[in-house]
Amino acid sequence: MTTPDQLEVIEDGTDAADETLYCTVHPTVATHLRCNRCGRPMCTRCAVKTPVGYRCRECVRSQQDKFFDAQALDYLIAGAVSLVISFFAALVVARLGWFLFAFFLSPAAGGLIGRVVWRLTGKRRGRYTAIVVGANVILGALPFFMLNPLAIGIYLFMATGAAVAQFRLHL
Ligand SMILES: [Zn+2]
Ligand SMILES: [Zn+2]
Repeated sequence: MTTPDQLEVIEDGTDAADETLYCTVHPTVATHLRCNRCGRPMCTRCAVKTPVGYRCRECVRSQQDKFFDAQALDYLIAGAVSLVISFFAALVVARLGWFLFAFFLSPAAGGLIGRVVWRLTGKRRGRYTAIVVGANVILGALPFFMLNPLAIGIYLFMATGAAVAQFRLHL
């Protein structure tokens, strides 16, 4: 939890800190904080800590929209690539028989899926790429689950983790 005294008071004038403001979203909550981008008053619940200071949720959201530049087609490509590669990788893992192979093949398959998606989507960043990739890696492997539950169980865990890790974004 962020307490009011941990927040920096934005200094945009000589008497700004003495002025009592009311949060734009919560009109009953008094605050001394303003968003350092749009300047609207905001309470500590609404303030989001960013590398460049405290901002309101709306400004953070619009910054993210600019950051995430993936197009609808990217998700289709990401899903299809993940599904197809995962299908064949899981087939191999399930067929090999010895479940320990899954420990070596799964992270490699996941890594490959991540790299191929990354290239084919023009290295654009998508808010939902990690979810789409993860879901399709799992979907592609499910048909083989009954064939070799142990190996595919390991595969589901490790391949999905390796594929998704490349799209986890830190803001
Ligand atoms: Zn703002
Ligand atoms: Zn508020």
